[in-house]
Amino acid sequence: MPGRRDDPRGIVILGATGQIGRLTLELISRRGGELQVRALAARRNATGLAAAAARFQPAAVALADSAAADRFRQAAEGRWRGEILVGAEGLATLAAWDDAEIVVNAMVGAAGLPPSLVALQAGHRLALANKESLVIAGALVMQAAAESTGRLLPIDSEHSALLQCLSGRSREEIARLILTASGGPLRGHSAGALARVTPAEALRHPTWEMGPRITIDAATLFNKGMELIEAHWLFDVPFERLGVWVHPQSIVHALVEFRDGALLAHLSAPDMRLPIQYALSHPVRWPAPIPPCDLTRAGPLGFEAPDATRFPCLRIAQEAGRAGGTAPAVANAADEVLVVAFLSRRVPLTAIATGLETVLGRHRRVAAPSLEQILAADAWAREEAEAYAHDLGART
Ligand code: MG
Repeated sequence: MPGRRDDPRGIVILGATGQIGRLTLELISRRGGELQVRALAARRNATGLAAAAARFQPAAVALADSAAADRFRQAAEGRWRGEILVGAEGLATLAAWDDAEIVVNAMVGAAGLPPSLVALQAGHRLALANKESLVIAGALVMQAAAESTGRLLPIDSEHSALLQCLSGRSREEIARLILTASGGPLRGHSAGALARVTPAEALRHPTWEMGPRITIDAATLFNKGMELIEAHWLFDVPFERLGVWVHPQSIVHALVEFRDGALLAHLSAPDMRLPIQYALSHPVRWPAPIPPCDLTRAGPLGFEAPDATRFPCLRIAQEAGRAGGTAPAVANAADEVLVVAFLSRRVPLTAIATGLETVLGRHRRVAAPSLEQILAADAWAREEAEAYAHDLGART
């Protein structure tokens, strides 16, 4: 019998032209036909998507709207033929793609949530890099995973590290999960210096190369707070048992403290190809896509407690996670708006924390929200944060 095992595994990539999407495609070509790209989605990068479509020949692509689709059609002319879909419906079609086994969700923003739910409901493996899915709708996403044969595998380095440290362990044995944070480019800044920091300084991340929003979120530690919320949902661990250690070298990605006091840590070079590959290969491991990490040449590894006074966004995100319901969606949406306001020099970096507290303080939380209520809270928070940034900008 021809081995079914040797059939290529179908894969769909949402957010195919972003950093995670491009690295995923690079890993797929390294596997020499074992994985086959069935469909690709990008928001508006029509030329990038056309290049990927020409190279990987998926059956379908999806873009944000018909204008982007037209540009794609021109760019792909003569190099690719297939189905072109648009909008949220197009994404949903791709996320449920029949002969796909894996859906990589590397989209940025809340628009990534519905396709995450669809992929799990379709019984696919969801390799998840879209933070918003678990942050704003952890309960819905975990419920979709529990109710289907679909499986959720994190792509974020910290959560991939935790998954690997927890392999084969029972929940009762876990005392604490510790995520590391590089501390970002502003780790040593005083409170006064943080108030005057420019976007260019805040964008200079020492160890990871990422998009602008996540780089600012790494600098304020808001990103780490979001990752605590994701860890809470992924591993079903209460917030009291989740911690953060600042570790500037980004070699240790996470640690599990077990009830007997033993710590297991996951170490590797800070390179997203490793967690992406593990989300694809799990439960087995494939040969390394990068040179191994030589600790004798990595220099000393340091750890310190995060400074809650200078970096209040960590606590704010954590509290939103603990409050649950629509609070994390509000925190996430308000942060996104405030980060853009900072990057366009309309408000200082410190306004991200004060704006978050103001918007969260005004929010009337819904305890067990539906998808619609989550998206409504997201939209409300954007307006509130915009108004806050506008008022503050007008005053300074
Ligand atoms: Mg991370």
